[in-house]
Amino acid sequence: MVSSTIIDQLKMELPLKQETLVLSADNSTGLVLVDLVNGFCTVGAGNMAPKVPNKQIEEMVEETARLARFFCDNKLPIFAFLDSHHPDVPEPPYPPHCFAGTHESKLVPELEWLESESNVTIRLKDCIDGFLGSMEENGSNVFANWVKTNRLESVLVVGICTDICVLDFVSSALSARNRGILTPLKDVIVYSGACATYDLPLHVAETMKDAIAHPQDLMHHIALYMAQGRGAKVVSEVTFTTQL
Ligand SMILES: [Zn+2]
Repeated sequence: MVSSTIIDQLKMELPLKQETLVLSADNSTGLVLVDLVNGFCTVGAGNMAPKVPNKQIEEMVEETARLARFFCDNKLPIFAFLDSHHPDVPEPPYPPHCFAGTHESKLVPELEWLESESNVTIRLKDCIDGFLGSMEENGSNVFANWVKTNRLESVLVVGICTDICVLDFVSSALSARNRGILTPLKDVIVYSGACATYDLPLHVAETMKDAIAHPQDLMHHIALYMAQGRGAKVVSEVTFTTQL
């Protein structure tokens, strides 16, 4: 565990401007789920899964399930990336993980029900950046088409890992927006409470060959700060307007 002094100082030196997002049933926001799969979230489910229960990951799953319920109840669009690799194609520097068709590459139990919802688009991706992972051989982009088809003005991004797949996707989406290929998209919003990353403290990493430290709270905060710096909005709370 990184000392609270370091985290407090980091938050002072790299402050996040976090707002509250209020969603209504008729808004033009889409929900993007990044890799809420067993291989990254379920205890013991593979090389990249938590080895013991992890509070940040549990809260991410819980909050994502709450958002997903609202979006499905109101038939609002959801786009879910699932990390999914061919066993013969490694993804360095990471160990083998999330082979296509296995339990690791499936949505976590709390979100499995999304597979049969008509407002949900599922995209298997075999790379870190979901925007690149949405490219088809003919040059079209499944994510960009989803934004255009649903006339989305904002996307709300949640998932894991804040500093890897979430940050890379957010950065690419912002570049694509700035380049005018995601029209009418205006905002890429990251919900801090529904993002998480993995924990590999320095004292553990030092005992492992070729491992580098990855303290969870620090990396989560730095990633949110970097997303904000690239132009994403970061929100710490998402509420819903009362249904009529
Ligand atoms: Zn992967």
